Amino acid sequence: AGKKNDISREKSAVLYEKAKQFFPGGVNSPVRAFKSVYGTPLFIERGDGCFLWDADGNQFIDFCCSWGPLILGHNHPKIRERVTKTLEKGLSFGAPTALENELAELILKNNKYLEKIRFVSSGTEAVMSAIRLARGYTGRDKIIKFEGCYHGHSDSLLVKAGSGLVTFGETSSAGVPKAFAAETIVLPLDNRDAVESAFSQFSGQIAAIIIEGIPANNGLLIQEPAYVQFLRDITKQHGALLIFDEVITGFRLGFEGAAAHYGIQPDIITYGKIIGGGMPVGAYGASAELMACISPDGAVYQAGTLSGNPVAMAAGIAQLTELKGSGFYKALNAKASEFVEAIRRYIAAKNYKVKLFHVGSIFWFAFTDQEHIRTASAIDHGSMEHYKVFHRELLNRGIYLGPSGYEVGFISAAHSKIELEKAKRAIFESLDELFRH
Ligand code: PMP
Repeated sequence: AGKKNDISREKSAVLYEKAKQFFPGGVNSPVRAFKSVYGTPLFIERGDGCFLWDADGNQFIDFCCSWGPLILGHNHPKIRERVTKTLEKGLSFGAPTALENELAELILKNNKYLEKIRFVSSGTEAVMSAIRLARGYTGRDKIIKFEGCYHGHSDSLLVKAGSGLVTFGETSSAGVPKAFAAETIVLPLDNRDAVESAFSQFSGQIAAIIIEGIPANNGLLIQEPAYVQFLRDITKQHGALLIFDEVITGFRLGFEGAAAHYGIQPDIITYGKIIGGGMPVGAYGASAELMACISPDGAVYQAGTLSGNPVAMAAGIAQLTELKGSGFYKALNAKASEFVEAIRRYIAAKNYKVKLFHVGSIFWFAFTDQEHIRTASAIDHGSMEHYKVFHRELLNRGIYLGPSGYEVGFISAAHSKIELEKAKRAIFESLDELFRH
């Protein structure tokens, strides 16, 4: 144990210098730039099972899993075979294919919370379209979102909380018109009063409440089921829709995601990357009545050249077929629980100031002594300094976690007992190193 030498990042550093000439910040998505952790971003060369290899040949056990979608691990043979077979017939037609039916049937036949679905190419697109559907259906403009939930980067949703209990949002990005942000009401999670006052203040104007199935983009903010039920009840009462953004929880907590986890029927559900098995796919779905509002049946326009792309559908079919297998989630979740419990026991024995929050195969380390963290404001931003050290110590021991302390980790079916054992030891040593002083 003790301090480990830093891994070599020579080749990644050269690639990063080059990338900086091409891309803002050297990356095509901001968190990849490693701004919240130490060192040069790692350029990944390949993945297999639960392992990743970077350009310098370092090998890692991967707990990021492409931010969640790789629930079967990297380079799964069944997905690879199905994709290869499909791409031999051409990459894109912009016309219907049988593969879209096959994936839709797989989803709809095994998910009682949806009657119809529309495929898109990203989570952002899915959520943006769901919001448009909610507005189109209700004829209302305002939406409620929660501080600490991320729903992609569309204008209406790149809005952060102002001050006070009920606030019009402020844009959280330059380039988002104030007028758009004014239609988004941002409320704290886990606070019924805030929701009630918003509905009384903006009576008849709120189209929908959107919430992540389980908020997992700003820490893992596990909500009480009764609170989510309250959101269901109050939206119904006011003629507003309830949208579950299940880009992370969909097909992760179970085949029917957070909806089944709570036993709550939302009005619209959004899905993302996981249904494409790593290919760019998203979807939104709802009752047949609601989906009838979507063009060409209805007046809410939404389209996409690459929507339902055959290669992406093929990957999705192969992945979801595996997930549908009996006992898949039970085994995955049991493995994750065991892993989490062992780490919790270690933390308790050492009395370290860190908590490991967990649901299904999603986990989050928070450097806190609070028993629960349900709101964004309960997160101690100063504690992210601990995460930086933890992250570096883990990389040096061959463990890859997302490069930000606000991000959750994922366990895949490809993480075997042996690798989880190794990961545990690396986590213990890294915590020892972090709390040594
Ligand atoms: N909604 C949620 C809950 C997400 O976690 C994300 C991204 N992780 C998105 C929407 C946006 O998805 P994408 O990055 O695929 O556009």
